[in-house]
Amino acid sequence: MEFTENLSSNRKSAEERAAVLADPGFGDFFTDHTVVVDWTASTEGGDGQWHDARIEPYGPIAMDPAASVLHYGQEIFEGLKAYRHEDGSVWTFRPHANAARLNKSAARLALPQLDEDVFVDSLRKIVATDIDWVPTGDGEALYLRPFMIATEAFLGVRAAREVSYRVIASPAGNYFGGELKPVGIWVSKNYARAGRGGTGSAKCGGNYAASLVAQLEAEENGCKQVLFLDSFNDNAVEELGGMNVFFVTKDGSLVTPALTGTILEGVTRSSVIQLAKDRGMKVEERKITLDEWRDSVASGDITEVFACGTAAVITPIGVLKNGEELIGDENAPAGEVTMSIREELLGIQRGTVEDRHGWLERL
Ligand code: PMP
Repeated sequence: MEFTENLSSNRKSAEERAAVLADPGFGDFFTDHTVVVDWTASTEGGDGQWHDARIEPYGPIAMDPAASVLHYGQEIFEGLKAYRHEDGSVWTFRPHANAARLNKSAARLALPQLDEDVFVDSLRKIVATDIDWVPTGDGEALYLRPFMIATEAFLGVRAAREVSYRVIASPAGNYFGGELKPVGIWVSKNYARAGRGGTGSAKCGGNYAASLVAQLEAEENGCKQVLFLDSFNDNAVEELGGMNVFFVTKDGSLVTPALTGTILEGVTRSSVIQLAKDRGMKVEERKITLDEWRDSVASGDITEVFACGTAAVITPIGVLKNGEELIGDENAPAGEVTMSIREELLGIQRGTVEDRHGWLERL
């Protein structure tokens, strides 16, 4: 797809950019541009195709106050990273997997499908335009946030006929800040993030809105993230607010909750499964309950637990808390298997470990 260009006359200076890149944090700073592509249904005089692909200066979006995204939350998004390699080249990781997931989310939220190549082209476009924003530091990357919103102005409840797809980009360091150490996780017993037939396996804003009150509860209890359970299914472990979860067992297998329609299929999750199988590890995707977690940690059958996702890569879980109850050891060091898979995945993304599955795509 061809993108027209309206480049910013107000780019950050090299000094301002350097100040941000010296300590990018996560999600606080944005590059100079945004990609936009619009869609209009044939019933609204459009041809049901995506049109007016363009790159624009980063800035506020002018939107009608009746735009349906503002009322009914018809919105989906993606998250992936652009990595700078030693030689200066910039790569991304499995972008077609994110494109396919965006389309799965779009189908669930009654939004239009976006051609996978348009998705990848949109990433190329923003990265090429804002290439100087791709950090060079160890563990740093340019986080890419494609999203799709219903822009049609009307208050009836139905699928919008005007939609906009955009990409913004944000230089990113370590998601949890500071050095890597096992995080404490809060088990949400009062709130669920998904239900059967709902939107749990879609990446839509509403899922995250529903998770925030539990996240506040976690923070009040000194935890970084929330673990959600399926309380109608024996407290089956689902996932964290923004990451999938894995268990390492004493016999060297990996266990992770099966994709039941209520959890998000992480790109990191499927990559971890592949890397583990490549090592000859047995990987089980199955139901695992909170009781099994508690008992297996106590008996030594579960030796490590970790969370995984694009933003925080692979993060060891130290302790699981709910009120007085603690599962695991707050001061346990990160597990060996966790760290070894983490290093391999980071190495592939950084270009220092062979990319035998062809996961990297040059931008
Ligand atoms: N679960 C949820 C709810 C998430 O938001 C994310 C982040 N996209 C993940 C899992 C991990 O997905 P990925 O590995 O594709 O980043």
